[in-house]
Amino acid sequence: MMHLTILGATGSIGRSTLDVVRRHREHIQVVALAAHSDAERMLADCLEFQPRYAVLVQEEAAVSLRLALAEHNVAIDVLSGPQAVCEVARLHEVDTVMAAIVGAAGLLPSMAAIKAGKRVLLANKESLVMSGALFMQAAREHGACILPVDSEHNAIFQCLPESVQAELGHCDLAAAGIHKILLTGSGGPFRFSPLDMLSSVTPAQAIAHPNWSMGRKISVDSATMMNKGLEFIEAKWLFNAADSQIQVIIHPQSVIHSMVQYQDGSVLAQMGRPDMRTPIAHALAYPQRIASGVEALDFFSQGELTFLQPDYQRYPCLKLAIDACWAGQAATTALNAANELAVAAFLDERIRFTDIHQLCYRVVEQLSSRSTPDLDTILELDSEARRLALRYLQEI
Ligand code: NAD
Ligand code: MG
Repeated sequence: MMHLTILGATGSIGRSTLDVVRRHREHIQVVALAAHSDAERMLADCLEFQPRYAVLVQEEAAVSLRLALAEHNVAIDVLSGPQAVCEVARLHEVDTVMAAIVGAAGLLPSMAAIKAGKRVLLANKESLVMSGALFMQAAREHGACILPVDSEHNAIFQCLPESVQAELGHCDLAAAGIHKILLTGSGGPFRFSPLDMLSSVTPAQAIAHPNWSMGRKISVDSATMMNKGLEFIEAKWLFNAADSQIQVIIHPQSVIHSMVQYQDGSVLAQMGRPDMRTPIAHALAYPQRIASGVEALDFFSQGELTFLQPDYQRYPCLKLAIDACWAGQAATTALNAANELAVAAFLDERIRFTDIHQLCYRVVEQLSSRSTPDLDTILELDSEARRLALRYLQEI
């Protein structure tokens, strides 16, 4: 029996996780659910999955959840505040944690699970973008097992030899006969739009992803391809890859979710429908396989598979993230913070789509030479990057 905590339970990944769990209730017990403030959805999930603990970070939301559960005569411990999220990530009776909070808010809870030596199904890529070195080192020290949930990283993981899978973060790709990791991305909704239109696209257009249904922030990140940039950084840490060992390829159909190219010329690809329940089910069951609810891929109705080089004029955020990746931890932490702020401002219609890159570029340039020896300095740098981004935002 698996004993599971889901962080970010009410979000896109959290809901897909619960949908997979629903099909395997006899093998997976949900011990705790945590989210920010959606009391209504949390109530429904509590009634269905009967966890021991439910966390809502926002106090008022937690109060209304407590009242509603009492009305249903259900005894579940309802906790609130950011500390409580970390507590349910390291519960003694939990062996597996789905880390699916969005953004920098996911860092401390994901790290809490790592330091408690859990099996961590990692969707929160921002944890690695902000603190990759510390994160992978902590996993090793505390005997935590990381299983990538991000579809590309999960695909790469599936295409790697077992010896490399067992050494995540410290593996030697070349010694395992691997030439390159080929990180694919759809290119987002504006991959064929005229460049001069990009400055006037609306939030609704940006979050209408052609292939995947996701949260709002990651959908905008997919449109700028900042998401692929953050995934590049994520891949560097997970697979201990050097500059020449990761390549981004645009693949508009999102059938191939990423590939591994070997030195003998073989390329292994993982394919499937663009549905996050596949990588979630893979990570939940690894090394076994379980049903996820995703329909089989139908090659006959699929049509062509095509591939393009990324164009940095169209996707300057991708270039910025790759540069930040090799500049170091301060650059990627600053980039992540500035991007969160910029995306929120774009969604609020306070800046243009193309300003996202401008804003991130200025913040990264300003802060990339800082040193980030520990988690506290990373969190301080994150705050400073947000303050700086806010100042630049007001100048736009
Ligand atoms: P989402 O916005 O749909 O859900 C976010 C979840 O985090 C919600 O449950 C929300 O309540 C919770 N949350 C937000 N702020 C919080 C806080 N301060 N404290 C505690 N909980 C908080 O986001 P999503 O699309 O599910 O993405 C979650 C993570 O998974 C992100 O890191 C994203 O990059 C990654 N990811 C998502 C997808 C996808 O298809 N949606 C794919 C790959 C990776
Ligand atoms: Mg992805």
